Amino acid sequence: MEQTIFSQIEELEHEQVVLCHDKHTGLNAIIAIHDTTLGPALGGTRMWNYTTKNDGITDALRLSRGMTYKAAISGLNLGGGKAVIIGDPATKSEALWRRYGKFVNSLGGKYITAEDVNTSTKDMEYIHMETKHVTGIPKYMGGSGDPSPFTAYGTFVGIKACANTKWGSDELSGKKILVQGVGHVGQYLVEHLTKAGAEVLISDIDEKKLKETVDNHGAKVIAPNEIFDIEYDIYAPCALGATINDESIPKLKCEIIAGAANNQLKDEDIHGKAIREKGILYAPDFLINAGGLMNVAAEAYGVYNEDKVTADVEEIYNRMHLIFDKANAENLTNQAAAIKMAEERIAAVGKIKSVL
Ligand code: NAD
Repeated sequence: MEQTIFSQIEELEHEQVVLCHDKHTGLNAIIAIHDTTLGPALGGTRMWNYTTKNDGITDALRLSRGMTYKAAISGLNLGGGKAVIIGDPATKSEALWRRYGKFVNSLGGKYITAEDVNTSTKDMEYIHMETKHVTGIPKYMGGSGDPSPFTAYGTFVGIKACANTKWGSDELSGKKILVQGVGHVGQYLVEHLTKAGAEVLISDIDEKKLKETVDNHGAKVIAPNEIFDIEYDIYAPCALGATINDESIPKLKCEIIAGAANNQLKDEDIHGKAIREKGILYAPDFLINAGGLMNVAAEAYGVYNEDKVTADVEEIYNRMHLIFDKANAENLTNQAAAIKMAEERIAAVGKIKSVL
């Protein structure tokens, strides 16, 4: 049975959800603010041609909850929010971004935006014409630029932590790794993995991006509908969410799932448990892909320093080990252990917030 929007908001415990429409630009956007206990809600804006508008709303709600956990587990003083623009990315225009920027501005800093799927530093530049509550703006404007290289680097160190836990060594040389999605993040991840000596397989629905990645790194291409038919050591989802589901789990022939995509588990509880029972080590998505958020957070704090951000991103390695230990000690899935750790920080910091 399809859930109503309000029942989803109640179930996931959102603070505020804003529906935005503009007839002149054709803008249809959802800004979902999940939790601002730790600070303003920072999260990117995704543009996607959803099958239905309700699919877009559901995506914004799920993604914004993930941002709350991502900021909390990464030690950031930020809340969780995310926005979705429903539409064909080919129809992007200056006016659309500026109109959207006005909606972001109307929230007075409670929500701060950045890049996500199908949005770029140039789009952030347009948003910046209407609001200061935007990060990931181009470097030539004094911003921190595209967060994707930091997301990719964090995912890479997180994959090493998984290898260490599973095989007793960080070594990725000779390991077969499938990267699904070679967009902004995936292409940088492929570069790190190739340099580390891994045998990289790639899959994408965009022929141009596949060709670029093959030309630059020599990776082998797998057709999107064949990725669960073959065997590899690590599956790195770097496209959209919910690829770990009832259909893919029985077919999966890997030992580790560790990638940058948000909301990889279609159902966190059911599918988190199913892959654990299969003996697959899962890297909680909002923990391993937090590098980009750390980068835009530094820009939002006004104290951007690339070396400091890089050191923070490398901490993902230790945090992954902490989560794996917690999951084992408390007999939880890795995702559940990560959520628990994030919720513990929100609760603890929340309690001291009202003290003068
Ligand atoms: P992107 O749009 O640049 O790249 C996504 C790629 O996935 C595209 O090349 C697209 O063609 C491909 N794709 C879409 N559907 C596919 C399918 N069925 N099979 C194979 N490939 C498919 O987006 P991105 O910025 O690289 O983000 C990738 C994922 O990582 C998203 O889930 C995003 O939310 C998440 N993420 C990104 C960042 C960041 O810094 N960009 C940070 C955290 C999380």
